[in-house]
Amino acid sequence: MYLSATNHRIPLNDGNSIPIIGLGTYSDPKLTPKGACATAVKIAIDVGYRHIDGAYVYKNEHEVGEAIREKIAEGKVRREDIFYCGKLWCTDHDPENVRPCLERTLRLLQLDYVDLYIIELPMAFQPGDAILPKDENGKWLYHKTDLCATWEALEACKDAGLVKSLGVSNFNRRQLELILNKPGLKYKPVSNQIECHPYFIQTKLLKFCQQHDIVIVGYSPLGTSRDPTWVNVSFPSLLKDTLLNSLGKKYNKTAAQVALRFNIQRGVVVIPKSFNPERIKENFQIFDFSLTEEEMKSVEALDKKVRLVQLLMWSDHPEYPFHDEY
Ligand code: NDP
Repeated sequence: MYLSATNHRIPLNDGNSIPIIGLGTYSDPKLTPKGACATAVKIAIDVGYRHIDGAYVYKNEHEVGEAIREKIAEGKVRREDIFYCGKLWCTDHDPENVRPCLERTLRLLQLDYVDLYIIELPMAFQPGDAILPKDENGKWLYHKTDLCATWEALEACKDAGLVKSLGVSNFNRRQLELILNKPGLKYKPVSNQIECHPYFIQTKLLKFCQQHDIVIVGYSPLGTSRDPTWVNVSFPSLLKDTLLNSLGKKYNKTAAQVALRFNIQRGVVVIPKSFNPERIKENFQIFDFSLTEEEMKSVEALDKKVRLVQLLMWSDHPEYPFHDEY
């Protein structure tokens, strides 16, 4: 498929389409100045990004919405040019909470619909105001998960016109099959957002998803921000990798651009996060070169088969997704 800076949408199984690159917007709220997210989204739209990845729990959805609305008001883009992905958090899996949560996101964004709404993680936590609920002894408060019931509530949101496409995130094969085999399934997930970069290439889950016409959206495509509070930093930085840097040299590109190009060339959507104007631009300059088949294979060989985002603190949750091989 020919991809260019102005034409890089790929089809979804429900008739909609998704831009193959989006701007990630997770940035530690304690360390991020107010307005930084809005500024980054505006720069990204000016540069040519048409896809923004966000979430209620990132605590900056209001800034994403402000930036999108400003660019629409300026006449830079129309609403239908922009693809926004929002996420349903773990405390909101109970079916009666799903629509109110999506409506809260729409209020924060001040938009009428989102393009994609995904279940952020397959693990439910106790409903309530606490995003990360714990008891008085510091033990996580989990909740009974019924992914099919949550999915049906999402289907109703699509029927109500609040969201165009439905997807999941961090689902393993078994959890995807639960939804795909649900009696009376109305809408298949269009996408599964998972960690995906040259050190963790997800060959098996990618193949399974391709067989079921489910697009993989690769999060942490540059190897994360390496924040040791939630990232496994036992490996050296992806962007310092010798091969990625030498391929970059060949094409007059950076290791980051090679890592992103690798994924889009195998049909994986990438959502690199940057709030830095130069790096926002850099990450979008991936449509004017391509890797040869041999180079693609050599990057695949970098796979370390170990996650950077392990979420081990929740490994005793009955629906912890990463015990299975894929
Ligand atoms: P990324 O792999 O996108 O890396 C982001 C880090 O790389 C930031 O520290 C950024 O800093 C830096 N960076 C960006 N561009 C460059 C560049 N060209 N050269 C060098 N450094 C660069 O990590 P994320 O974990 O943020 O993943 C991306 C997005 O995926 C998130 O923002 C979020 O939207 C989503 N996500 C979803 C998850 C899920 O469970 N569904 C889990 C994790 C992420 P700076 O801003 O200073 O440029």
